[in-house]
Order: sequence, then C-alpha cells, then structure tokens
Amino acid sequence: MNKYIKKTKIIATLGPASSDKETMMQLVQAGVDIFRINFSHADYDIVKKNVETIREINQELGQSVGILGDLQGPKLRVGVVKEGSYLNPGDILTFTNEKIEGDSEKVYMTYQKFPQDVKVGERILIDDGKLVLEVTETNNIDTVKAKTIQGGPLSSKKGVNLPNTNVSLPALTEKDIEDANYILDLELDWIALSFVRHAQDIIDLKEIIKNHPTNRQKTPIIAKIEKPEGVKNIEEILLECDGIMVARGDLGVEVPMEEVPAIQKNLVEKARKHSKPVIIATQMMETMITSLTPTRAEVNDVANSVLDGADAVMLSGETSVGRYPVDVVKNMAKIVKNIEQTHFYRTKNSPIEHDFDCIDERFITKRICLAAVRIAKTTNVEAIVTLTYSGYTAFQISAHRPNSNIIVFSSNKRVITMLNLLWGVRAFYYDMQKSTDETIIQVNMLAHTYGYVEKGDFVLNLNATPAYEDGKTNTLRLTNI
Ligand code: PGA
Ligand code: MN
Repeated sequence: MNKYIKKTKIIATLGPASSDKETMMQLVQAGVDIFRINFSHADYDIVKKNVETIREINQELGQSVGILGDLQGPKLRVGVVKEGSYLNPGDILTFTNEKIEGDSEKVYMTYQKFPQDVKVGERILIDDGKLVLEVTETNNIDTVKAKTIQGGPLSSKKGVNLPNTNVSLPALTEKDIEDANYILDLELDWIALSFVRHAQDIIDLKEIIKNHPTNRQKTPIIAKIEKPEGVKNIEEILLECDGIMVARGDLGVEVPMEEVPAIQKNLVEKARKHSKPVIIATQMMETMITSLTPTRAEVNDVANSVLDGADAVMLSGETSVGRYPVDVVKNMAKIVKNIEQTHFYRTKNSPIEHDFDCIDERFITKRICLAAVRIAKTTNVEAIVTLTYSGYTAFQISAHRPNSNIIVFSSNKRVITMLNLLWGVRAFYYDMQKSTDETIIQVNMLAHTYGYVEKGDFVLNLNATPAYEDGKTNTLRLTNI
C-alpha cells in the first residue's frame, strides 16, 4: 500500500450529487480536504444541514475537513427563456430591463444599468461563451440590441459575461451581503468572493466580517480571479486577501482562452511570493461528470497544475451534479500523489525569497520559517512540527514547500479546519498549557502516534519562547526522535 500523504489539497463542490452523509463520508475518505458551498445555488436549509454533516464526519473520522463559502458576486444572467429558443449568426437579440419570459428575439437581463454602461461594438457572451454577440444599439435607458456572431441554443438563467464593458455593479450585491452574513453565522472556514476587480472589493468584504458578532476570529478571504481587471490588479489584491482562486471558468470567457495557461502560472507564482494559498479551479475533470474515465488532457491538466505549484485543485460540476463524485476524487487523488512523488516535483519546489528589507512585526517569524525549511531540505527532516495560534506560521512554512511533513498543533479550534486548505499542512488540536520543553516532547509524540514520523527521524520544532497564547514563533529546535 502506498502510504504517501498528498501535499496538494482537493476541494470538492457540494451539490445534489453529494449532499448525503454517506457520499460525503466517501468523498472525505477518497481525499477531499475542503468542501465548497457555492452560494450561487444555495438553499440555506440545505447549507446548514451540510455544514452539520461535515462537522459530524470530522468528529467520526478524526478529520479536519474545512468549508469554503463561495459568494456569487456581481454575476450577470439572462432571465427565463422559452424552451427551444435559438440564435443563428446574424440574428438580432434585444436585451430588456423588463422581467419578461424571453425567446429567440428578446430576453430579460438581470443587470439594470446595462443600457447605460455598455457601448456599441462591445461583446456579450452567454452560457460560458458558447453564444457570442456584439452590441449594435443601446437606448441608454432600458434596451440594448446585439447581433449574433456565434449562435446556438439560448436557455434560461444562463450566465452573461461582458469582457469589454466597465460594469458599474458593486463587488458585493445585496444577495452577497446576506450570504456573507450567513457564512459568518455558520462560522465557515473560508469565504470566497467572485469577480474581484480591485483590492477595495476585498476591503468591503472585510468590513462585513469585522462587523459580524460571531467573528472574533477573522474569517480569511479567497479572491476569485476571473476578470481582466483582477489579473491586472493582482498585486494590490494579494496585499488584502488571504488566498486566491484561478477561476478558469469565467476567466476563460473574460480573457482570450489562450491566455489562461500563462495567467495561471503567473498567479500561482505571485500568490506564493505573498505566502498565500492558490486554488486552481474549473473543468479539471469535466468529462467525469458523465463518464468514468477522464480524458488524457484532463489527467495532464491536474498534474500540471500541481507542478505549477497550486496549493489546491478544485472540482465543481464533477462532484456537485456529476454521476461519479467519489470516483472523480479518487482519480484526482491518484494523479496528485503520482506527480508529487516524481523528481520533477520534488526538485522544483524551492523556498521563496521574501523581500526582507522591510522589518515588520512578523520579521522574526518569517526568518525562522525560512531557516527551518532550509535546514529541513539539507538535513532530510521528516517533519516540521509547529505550534500556532493564528495560523501565520503554517502559511509561511507551507509557502516554502518543504519536502517534509508539516504538522501543526493549535489550541485554537477554528484554525485547524481552516489550515486544511494549505499545501502540505496537517493540523491538530493541542492545548498549549505546558512548558516549552514538555510541549515539544508531547507534540513530537503525537506526530509519531499519527504516523508522520518514526523512531530515528529528524524533526524540526518551531515555537514561541516564552510560550503563551499568541506568542510569535521565534525558536527553532532540531531533534532526533
Ligand atoms: P464559479 O467560479 O464556479 O463560482 O463560477 C469558478 C470559475 O469561474 O472558474
Ligand atoms: Mn466564476
């Protein structure tokens, strides 16, 4: 049996195909580290039930599976459309602000300021870019006319992308604000925001988090990069968010698809420089929605995303509405484990060089973490064992991509499931009331009990001396178990 524990994490989106306890349990056993709840389609009662089920499963299986609540953001859609509506190249389609049942000639658009914001010549993409139209006319009040360039069936509630239009909608819609508060009520581990354009979008969400009563713990934010502005402003966004997602579904519609591979590599590199996790998402195993076998191209895509340096790879339709949710996770886990054990992967990962010119309050911790990973690489350290309260140390160690196991202990229950998203990190509860010497002996014993180290292995311990609840990591100790 291959006992190798994968470093790259798997995120599975919940949906009708995966909302019963038995399936969720199998998904966890197959390798899911984080469940995503997509609030574009969420029913609060089902969300609540799913969250309870995940927490029960964690208890029963001794796991730390985390939950990511994903906000829809300013996603545009067409309204309900009659069955059989179809657009042929050259056809003119009228978009109206009036809530009508649409057909091949006229359709309702959910975005009220569309006629004011759009300009003649701009493109309208419907249904993930399957339909392409070009604006020919706007009355600047309530009606826009567009000519079909690429035709096909037009169906109800499909998403609309306006890659060239300066959309004036706020980053957080009313629905997002309500959903965000619900995510905070439930104390989910991560909150994602779709269609992030600037750092300000993240700051707006932070404001909601700050004002929420249950949020003593700051819920970390994932910025979903799926618009050209998000790609352009990535540096300022990375300063505000806690992680990013390369949301290739919408991104591949908003920018020319051939640019997505290079954008993916660029975003991964930038996120790692900021020691923030990066998720690669969408269509990774798309054919497994209906088939038991992925295409060779999909297998390659998962492996190459791991090689690019992703913290996590994500499944959407494959696990939410697909026929084989458990099989797809099993396959993904096999692909991840396989590529991670090759020299291509192991030699590629090198610690990142931060800009150490700026001596901030985290300077000492950052230097200690970098030193730890360097020692780990040259000494063949089996595990880096660290204590953390906020999780900061875990983010740092993970971003340096050591070949050793990263075992994290925390007395802060909420960070344990949150850290499960991070590359290589395995987190456990530990009540740090003891002296430093005793703590180190105990956590190393636990790492041994959990099967991460054996007698004779080198272990690196990171901790804060003197040890108190939120002391900053400043000490490094190398021992032989
Ligand atoms: P979504 O985001 O599934 O919420 O649209 C991911 C993507 O666009 O790739
Ligand atoms: Mn999207």
